[in-house]
Amino acid sequence: MVLFITGLCNRKCYYCPLSENRKNKDVIYANERKISGIDEAIDEAKICGSKGVGITGGNPILKIDRTCEYLKALKDHFGKDFHAHLYTTLEITEEHLQKLKEAGLDEIRLHPRMENLKNQDKKEDKKEVELNKLVEKLTLCKKYIKKVGVEIPAIPNMDDEISLIIQKINEIPVDFINLNELEYSETNYTNLLEKGFNEKNDYSSRMQGSQETALNAINLAKKHIIANNKEGYNLAIKMHYCPSTLKDSVQMKNRLINRAKNVAKEYELITDEGLLIKGIVKYDELIVAEKSTEDSNNPENNPFVQFLKYNELELGIDYEINTCKSEIYLNPILLEEIIEYIKENNIEAEKEFGEFRAYISEYYPTVDKLEVQRTPLITKKPKLNLKLRKKNLK
Ligand code: SF4
Repeated sequence: MVLFITGLCNRKCYYCPLSENRKNKDVIYANERKISGIDEAIDEAKICGSKGVGITGGNPILKIDRTCEYLKALKDHFGKDFHAHLYTTLEITEEHLQKLKEAGLDEIRLHPRMENLKNQDKKEDKKEVELNKLVEKLTLCKKYIKKVGVEIPAIPNMDDEISLIIQKINEIPVDFINLNELEYSETNYTNLLEKGFNEKNDYSSRMQGSQETALNAINLAKKHIIANNKEGYNLAIKMHYCPSTLKDSVQMKNRLINRAKNVAKEYELITDEGLLIKGIVKYDELIVAEKSTEDSNNPENNPFVQFLKYNELELGIDYEINTCKSEIYLNPILLEEIIEYIKENNIEAEKEFGEFRAYISEYYPTVDKLEVQRTPLITKKPKLNLKLRKKNLK
Protein backbone atom coordinates (compact mmCIF):
# COMPACT_ATOMS: atom_id res chain seq x y z
CA MET A 1 0.00 0.00 0.00
CA VAL A 2 1.15 3.52 -0.71
CA LEU A 3 0.50 5.80 2.26
CA PHE A 4 0.65 9.44 1.21
CA ILE A 5 1.03 10.99 4.63
CA THR A 6 1.03 14.69 3.68
CA GLY A 7 1.31 16.82 0.55
CA LEU A 8 3.40 19.40 2.41
CA CYS A 9 7.00 19.69 1.28
CA ASN A 10 9.79 22.17 1.89
CA ARG A 11 11.20 21.80 -1.62
CA LYS A 12 10.07 22.98 -5.02
CA CYS A 13 11.56 20.43 -7.40
CA TYR A 14 10.73 21.42 -10.99
CA TYR A 15 10.03 17.77 -11.82
CA CYS A 16 7.64 17.20 -8.87
CA PRO A 17 4.77 15.13 -10.32
CA LEU A 18 2.26 15.61 -7.48
CA SER A 19 -1.27 16.41 -8.63
CA GLU A 20 -3.00 19.70 -7.78
CA ASN A 21 -5.25 18.09 -5.18
CA ARG A 22 -2.22 16.76 -3.26
CA LYS A 23 0.62 19.22 -3.83
CA ASN A 24 1.31 21.38 -0.77
CA LYS A 25 -1.95 20.24 0.80
CA ASP A 26 -1.96 18.53 4.17
CA VAL A 27 -4.03 15.56 3.02
CA ILE A 28 -3.66 11.81 3.60
CA TYR A 29 -4.27 9.09 1.01
CA ALA A 30 -4.05 5.32 1.34
CA ASN A 31 -3.50 4.30 -2.29
CA GLU A 32 -6.04 6.40 -4.23
CA ARG A 33 -8.41 6.72 -1.26
CA LYS A 34 -8.48 9.97 0.71
CA ILE A 35 -8.56 9.11 4.39
CA SER A 36 -8.79 10.88 7.71
CA GLY A 37 -7.76 8.24 10.22
CA ILE A 38 -5.62 5.22 10.97
CA ASP A 39 -8.58 2.81 10.83
CA GLU A 40 -9.15 3.69 7.19
CA ALA A 41 -5.47 3.08 6.40
CA ILE A 42 -5.68 -0.36 8.02
CA ASP A 43 -8.91 -1.06 6.15
CA GLU A 44 -7.36 -0.10 2.80
CA ALA A 45 -4.30 -2.30 3.49
CA LYS A 46 -6.65 -5.20 4.24
CA ILE A 47 -8.78 -4.64 1.11
CA CYS A 48 -5.65 -4.57 -1.07
CA GLY A 49 -4.09 -7.58 0.63
CA SER A 50 -0.98 -5.43 1.23
CA LYS A 51 2.20 -7.06 2.43
CA GLY A 52 3.77 -3.74 3.36
CA VAL A 53 3.59 0.04 3.13
CA GLY A 54 5.55 2.71 1.27
CA ILE A 55 5.19 6.02 3.13
CA THR A 56 5.49 9.00 0.86
CA GLY A 57 4.38 12.59 0.31
CA GLY A 58 5.23 15.54 0.11
CA ASN A 59 7.79 15.10 2.80
CA PRO A 60 6.69 12.71 5.58
CA ILE A 61 9.17 14.11 8.11
CA LEU A 62 7.27 17.42 8.11
CA LYS A 63 4.55 15.44 9.88
CA ILE A 64 6.85 13.10 11.77
CA ASP A 65 4.46 12.38 14.67
CA ARG A 66 1.60 11.54 12.32
CA THR A 67 3.95 9.40 10.21
CA CYS A 68 5.11 7.44 13.26
CA GLU A 69 1.57 7.07 14.59
CA TYR A 70 0.36 5.50 11.31
CA LEU A 71 3.51 3.42 10.93
CA LYS A 72 3.27 2.01 14.44
CA ALA A 73 -0.46 1.28 14.07
CA LEU A 74 0.13 -0.62 10.81
CA LYS A 75 3.01 -2.58 12.34
CA ASP A 76 0.97 -3.38 15.46
CA HIS A 77 -1.97 -4.53 13.36
CA PHE A 78 -0.21 -6.54 10.65
CA GLY A 79 2.89 -7.66 12.56
CA LYS A 80 6.61 -7.00 12.25
CA ASP A 81 6.87 -8.70 8.85
CA PHE A 82 4.64 -6.02 7.34
CA HIS A 83 7.50 -4.23 5.55
CA ALA A 84 7.59 -0.43 5.83
CA HIS A 85 9.74 1.92 3.79
CA LEU A 86 9.74 5.70 3.71
CA TYR A 87 10.81 8.36 1.19
CA THR A 88 12.24 11.63 2.42
CA THR A 89 14.81 14.36 1.85
CA LEU A 90 18.18 15.25 3.35
CA GLU A 91 16.44 17.36 6.01
CA ILE A 92 16.11 14.18 8.07
CA THR A 93 17.65 14.44 11.56
CA GLU A 94 18.78 12.08 14.30
CA GLU A 95 15.60 12.87 16.25
CA HIS A 96 13.40 11.89 13.26
CA LEU A 97 15.35 8.67 12.84
CA GLN A 98 15.02 7.74 16.50
CA LYS A 99 11.24 8.14 16.27
CA LEU A 100 11.02 6.20 13.00
CA LYS A 101 13.09 3.38 14.41
CA GLU A 102 10.88 3.13 17.48
CA ALA A 103 7.79 3.04 15.24
CA GLY A 104 9.27 0.09 13.34
CA LEU A 105 10.57 1.49 10.02
CA ASP A 106 12.44 -1.15 7.99
CA GLU A 107 13.83 0.89 5.14
CA ILE A 108 14.49 4.52 4.22
CA ARG A 109 15.08 6.10 0.80
CA LEU A 110 16.69 9.54 0.55
CA HIS A 111 16.23 12.01 -2.26
CA PRO A 112 18.92 14.72 -2.71
CA ARG A 113 18.24 18.03 -4.47
CA MET A 114 18.89 17.14 -8.09
CA GLU A 115 19.09 20.83 -9.10
CA ASN A 116 22.12 21.28 -6.84
CA LEU A 117 23.92 18.39 -8.51
CA LYS A 118 23.65 19.71 -12.02
CA ASN A 119 27.07 20.82 -13.20
CA GLN A 120 26.37 24.40 -14.26
CA ASP A 121 28.59 27.48 -13.99
CA LYS A 122 29.52 28.43 -10.47
CA LYS A 123 27.38 25.63 -9.06
CA GLU A 124 30.36 23.37 -8.33
CA ASP A 125 30.30 24.19 -4.63
CA LYS A 126 26.56 23.47 -4.39
CA LYS A 127 27.18 20.10 -5.99
CA GLU A 128 29.96 19.27 -3.53
CA VAL A 129 27.86 20.43 -0.56
CA GLU A 130 24.87 18.37 -1.70
CA LEU A 131 26.97 15.22 -2.24
CA ASN A 132 28.64 15.56 1.16
CA LYS A 133 25.28 16.13 2.82
CA LEU A 134 23.89 13.04 1.10
CA VAL A 135 26.79 10.91 2.37
CA GLU A 136 26.44 12.38 5.88
CA LYS A 137 22.68 11.73 6.06
CA LEU A 138 22.93 8.23 4.63
CA THR A 139 25.61 7.39 7.19
CA LEU A 140 23.31 8.70 9.93
CA CYS A 141 20.39 6.65 8.58
CA LYS A 142 22.56 3.50 8.70
CA LYS A 143 22.82 3.90 12.49
CA TYR A 144 19.07 3.61 12.93
CA ILE A 145 17.42 1.92 9.98
CA LYS A 146 18.18 -1.58 8.71
CA LYS A 147 18.01 -0.89 5.00
CA VAL A 148 19.13 2.42 3.52
CA GLY A 149 19.06 3.61 -0.07
CA VAL A 150 18.69 6.50 -2.50
CA GLU A 151 15.80 7.05 -4.88
CA ILE A 152 15.97 9.69 -7.60
CA PRO A 153 14.47 10.48 -10.98
CA ALA A 154 16.78 9.76 -13.92
CA ILE A 155 16.89 13.30 -15.28
CA PRO A 156 18.05 13.34 -18.92
CA ASN A 157 21.65 14.53 -19.45
CA MET A 158 22.59 14.05 -15.80
CA ASP A 159 24.58 10.90 -16.56
CA ASP A 160 27.80 12.17 -14.92
CA GLU A 161 26.08 13.55 -11.83
CA ILE A 162 24.10 10.37 -11.22
CA SER A 163 27.20 8.27 -11.81
CA LEU A 164 29.00 10.40 -9.21
CA ILE A 165 26.21 9.83 -6.67
CA ILE A 166 26.53 6.07 -7.18
CA GLN A 167 30.31 6.16 -6.75
CA LYS A 168 30.07 8.22 -3.55
CA ILE A 169 27.38 6.20 -1.84
CA ASN A 170 28.97 2.89 -2.85
CA GLU A 171 31.76 3.79 -0.39
CA ILE A 172 29.49 4.08 2.69
CA PRO A 173 28.11 1.57 1.58
CA VAL A 174 24.34 1.91 1.31
CA ASP A 175 22.13 -0.94 0.15
CA PHE A 176 20.71 0.35 -3.12
CA ILE A 177 19.95 3.15 -5.51
CA ASN A 178 16.70 3.31 -7.48
CA LEU A 179 16.67 5.35 -10.67
CA ASN A 180 13.12 6.10 -11.74
CA GLU A 181 12.29 6.98 -15.30
CA LEU A 182 11.26 10.64 -15.49
CA GLU A 183 7.57 11.06 -16.22
CA TYR A 184 5.43 14.08 -16.87
CA SER A 185 2.20 14.88 -15.11
CA GLU A 186 -0.33 17.71 -15.39
CA THR A 187 1.69 19.72 -12.86
CA ASN A 188 5.30 19.31 -14.03
CA TYR A 189 4.73 19.21 -17.80
CA THR A 190 5.42 22.91 -18.48
CA ASN A 191 8.49 22.92 -16.22
CA LEU A 192 9.95 19.92 -18.03
CA LEU A 193 9.38 21.47 -21.46
CA GLU A 194 10.98 24.71 -20.28
CA LYS A 195 14.06 22.71 -19.26
CA GLY A 196 14.26 21.48 -22.85
CA PHE A 197 12.95 17.94 -22.27
CA ASN A 198 10.49 16.24 -24.59
CA GLU A 199 7.95 13.44 -24.34
CA LYS A 200 9.23 10.07 -25.50
CA ASN A 201 6.07 9.24 -27.46
CA ASP A 202 2.42 10.21 -27.57
CA TYR A 203 1.01 7.12 -25.83
CA SER A 204 2.84 7.29 -22.48
CA SER A 205 4.03 9.91 -20.00
CA ARG A 206 7.72 8.92 -20.34
CA MET A 207 10.32 11.61 -20.99
CA GLN A 208 12.85 11.23 -23.77
CA GLY A 209 16.42 10.46 -22.70
CA SER A 210 15.63 9.42 -19.13
CA GLN A 211 16.11 5.70 -19.69
CA GLU A 212 19.36 6.29 -21.62
CA THR A 213 20.70 8.50 -18.81
CA ALA A 214 19.87 5.91 -16.14
CA LEU A 215 21.54 3.03 -17.97
CA ASN A 216 24.54 5.11 -18.99
CA ALA A 217 25.03 6.42 -15.44
CA ILE A 218 25.00 2.86 -14.07
CA ASN A 219 27.64 1.79 -16.63
CA LEU A 220 29.79 4.85 -16.00
CA ALA A 221 29.68 4.26 -12.24
CA LYS A 222 30.59 0.58 -12.64
CA LYS A 223 33.61 1.48 -14.80
CA HIS A 224 34.85 4.10 -12.31
CA ILE A 225 34.42 1.82 -9.32
CA ILE A 226 36.24 -1.05 -11.02
CA ALA A 227 39.03 1.19 -12.35
CA ASN A 228 39.64 2.83 -8.95
CA ASN A 229 39.68 -0.36 -6.99
CA LYS A 230 43.11 -1.95 -7.23
CA GLU A 231 42.01 -5.10 -5.45
CA GLY A 232 39.32 -5.74 -7.97
CA TYR A 233 35.62 -5.32 -8.44
CA ASN A 234 34.07 -3.81 -5.34
CA LEU A 235 30.56 -2.85 -6.21
CA ALA A 236 28.68 -3.08 -2.91
CA ILE A 237 25.56 -1.21 -3.95
CA LYS A 238 22.59 -2.66 -5.82
CA MET A 239 21.43 -0.50 -8.72
CA HIS A 240 17.91 -0.61 -10.14
CA TYR A 241 16.47 1.24 -13.06
CA CYS A 242 12.70 1.41 -12.81
CA PRO A 243 10.95 2.20 -16.12
CA SER A 244 7.59 3.89 -15.72
CA THR A 245 5.89 1.14 -17.74
CA LEU A 246 7.20 -1.45 -15.27
CA LYS A 247 6.04 0.59 -12.30
CA ASP A 248 2.59 1.03 -13.84
CA SER A 249 2.13 -2.43 -15.22
CA VAL A 250 3.46 -4.48 -12.32
CA GLN A 251 3.00 -2.51 -9.10
CA MET A 252 -0.29 -0.88 -10.04
CA LYS A 253 -1.71 -4.04 -11.59
CA ASN A 254 -0.97 -6.16 -8.53
CA ARG A 255 -2.57 -3.57 -6.30
CA LEU A 256 -5.67 -3.36 -8.48
CA ILE A 257 -6.06 -7.13 -8.69
CA ASN A 258 -5.83 -7.52 -4.90
CA ARG A 259 -8.29 -4.67 -4.37
CA ALA A 260 -10.68 -5.99 -7.01
CA LYS A 261 -10.72 -9.44 -5.37
CA ASN A 262 -11.73 -7.89 -2.07
CA VAL A 263 -14.37 -5.44 -3.27
CA ALA A 264 -15.98 -7.29 -6.22
CA LYS A 265 -19.71 -7.98 -5.84
CA GLU A 266 -21.06 -11.44 -6.64
CA TYR A 267 -22.26 -10.30 -10.04
CA GLU A 268 -19.00 -8.59 -11.10
CA LEU A 269 -16.11 -10.02 -13.11
CA ILE A 270 -12.40 -9.16 -12.66
CA THR A 271 -10.20 -8.55 -15.72
CA ASP A 272 -6.53 -9.58 -16.00
CA GLU A 273 -5.64 -5.91 -15.42
CA GLY A 274 -7.57 -5.78 -12.14
CA LEU A 275 -10.56 -3.81 -13.45
CA LEU A 276 -14.14 -4.73 -12.59
CA ILE A 277 -16.89 -5.39 -15.15
CA LYS A 278 -20.61 -5.26 -14.50
CA GLY A 279 -23.81 -5.05 -16.51
CA ILE A 280 -25.94 -1.92 -16.05
CA VAL A 281 -29.58 -1.33 -16.88
CA LYS A 282 -30.77 2.27 -16.61
CA TYR A 283 -34.38 2.05 -15.52
CA ASP A 284 -35.35 5.70 -15.34
CA GLU A 285 -36.81 5.50 -18.84
CA LEU A 286 -38.72 2.31 -18.21
CA ILE A 287 -42.36 2.97 -17.68
CA VAL A 288 -44.94 0.87 -15.92
CA ALA A 289 -47.94 -0.39 -17.83
CA GLU A 290 -50.48 2.26 -18.77
CA LYS A 291 -53.26 0.84 -16.72
CA SER A 292 -51.07 -0.25 -13.88
CA THR A 293 -52.07 0.91 -10.46
CA GLU A 294 -48.59 0.25 -9.13
CA ASP A 295 -46.32 2.99 -7.89
CA SER A 296 -44.15 3.90 -10.87
CA ASN A 297 -41.53 5.55 -8.62
CA ASN A 298 -40.81 2.33 -6.83
CA PRO A 299 -37.94 0.61 -8.68
CA GLU A 300 -39.23 -2.74 -7.48
CA ASN A 301 -42.21 -2.20 -9.81
CA ASN A 302 -40.34 -1.53 -13.00
CA PRO A 303 -40.47 -4.29 -15.60
CA PHE A 304 -36.82 -5.19 -15.66
CA VAL A 305 -36.65 -5.65 -11.89
CA GLN A 306 -39.83 -7.71 -12.03
CA PHE A 307 -38.27 -9.80 -14.76
CA LEU A 308 -35.13 -10.36 -12.65
CA LYS A 309 -37.21 -11.20 -9.61
CA TYR A 310 -39.29 -13.62 -11.66
CA ASN A 311 -36.17 -15.43 -12.78
CA GLU A 312 -34.16 -14.87 -9.62
CA LEU A 313 -34.58 -18.26 -8.03
CA GLU A 314 -34.17 -20.38 -11.13
CA LEU A 315 -31.26 -18.44 -12.62
CA GLY A 316 -29.64 -17.60 -9.32
CA ILE A 317 -29.46 -14.03 -10.61
CA ASP A 318 -27.67 -11.75 -8.24
CA TYR A 319 -28.41 -8.09 -8.83
CA GLU A 320 -28.40 -4.76 -7.06
CA ILE A 321 -30.61 -1.70 -7.43
CA ASN A 322 -29.02 1.72 -7.08
CA THR A 323 -32.00 4.01 -6.51
CA CYS A 324 -29.84 7.18 -6.47
CA LYS A 325 -28.57 6.55 -9.97
CA SER A 326 -31.68 4.67 -11.20
CA GLU A 327 -29.52 1.73 -12.21
CA ILE A 328 -29.69 -2.05 -11.86
CA TYR A 329 -26.40 -3.93 -11.72
CA LEU A 330 -25.96 -7.56 -12.69
CA ASN A 331 -23.55 -10.06 -14.19
CA PRO A 332 -22.37 -8.65 -17.57
CA ILE A 333 -22.48 -12.02 -19.38
CA LEU A 334 -26.00 -12.65 -18.21
CA LEU A 335 -27.09 -9.17 -19.25
CA GLU A 336 -25.57 -9.73 -22.70
CA GLU A 337 -27.49 -12.99 -23.03
CA ILE A 338 -30.76 -11.35 -22.02
CA ILE A 339 -30.29 -8.47 -24.46
CA GLU A 340 -29.26 -10.82 -27.28
CA TYR A 341 -32.35 -12.89 -26.68
CA ILE A 342 -34.58 -9.82 -26.80
CA LYS A 343 -32.96 -8.62 -30.02
CA GLU A 344 -32.92 -11.97 -31.81
CA ASN A 345 -36.47 -12.88 -30.96
CA ASN A 346 -37.96 -9.44 -31.34
CA ILE A 347 -40.05 -10.23 -28.33
CA GLU A 348 -43.51 -8.74 -28.24
CA ALA A 349 -44.52 -7.78 -24.74
CA GLU A 350 -48.11 -8.01 -23.59
CA LYS A 351 -47.86 -4.42 -22.60
CA GLU A 352 -45.61 -1.56 -23.62
CA PHE A 353 -42.73 -1.01 -21.23
CA GLY A 354 -40.96 1.84 -22.94
CA GLU A 355 -37.30 2.40 -23.79
CA PHE A 356 -34.44 1.32 -21.62
CA ARG A 357 -30.66 1.37 -21.88
CA ALA A 358 -28.22 -1.39 -21.09
CA TYR A 359 -24.43 -1.23 -20.87
CA ILE A 360 -21.35 -3.15 -19.93
CA SER A 361 -19.23 -1.00 -17.64
CA GLU A 362 -15.53 -1.49 -16.96
CA TYR A 363 -14.10 0.47 -14.04
CA TYR A 364 -11.29 0.74 -11.50
CA PRO A 365 -11.90 -1.03 -8.17
CA THR A 366 -10.87 2.19 -6.39
CA VAL A 367 -12.98 4.35 -4.08
CA ASP A 368 -13.87 6.78 -6.91
CA LYS A 369 -14.82 3.80 -9.18
CA LEU A 370 -13.42 5.59 -12.23
CA GLU A 371 -15.12 4.17 -15.31
CA VAL A 372 -12.75 3.48 -18.23
CA GLN A 373 -15.22 2.07 -20.71
CA ARG A 374 -18.98 1.86 -21.13
CA THR A 375 -20.23 -0.30 -24.00
CA PRO A 376 -23.88 0.12 -24.98
CA LEU A 377 -25.75 -3.15 -25.49
CA ILE A 378 -29.03 -1.74 -26.64
CA THR A 379 -29.97 1.53 -28.24
CA LYS A 380 -33.41 0.88 -29.67
CA LYS A 381 -36.75 0.43 -28.03
CA PRO A 382 -37.15 -3.17 -26.91
CA LYS A 383 -40.22 -4.91 -25.61
CA LEU A 384 -39.84 -7.23 -22.70
CA ASN A 385 -41.68 -10.42 -22.03
CA LEU A 386 -41.94 -10.96 -18.32
CA LYS A 387 -42.39 -14.69 -18.85
CA LEU A 388 -38.87 -15.08 -20.27
CA ARG A 389 -37.32 -18.02 -18.42
CA LYS A 390 -33.96 -19.71 -18.15
CA LYS A 391 -34.74 -22.29 -20.81
CA ASN A 392 -35.13 -19.47 -23.33
CA LEU A 393 -31.65 -18.14 -22.69
CA LYS A 394 -28.65 -19.46 -24.58
S1 SF4 B 1 10.87 16.49 -2.60
FE1 SF4 B 1 9.38 15.20 -3.64
S2 SF4 B 1 7.39 16.01 -2.98
FE2 SF4 B 1 8.91 17.56 -2.50
S3 SF4 B 1 8.87 18.93 -4.25
FE3 SF4 B 1 10.51 17.43 -4.59
S4 SF4 B 1 9.54 15.80 -5.79
FE4 SF4 B 1 7.89 17.03 -4.89
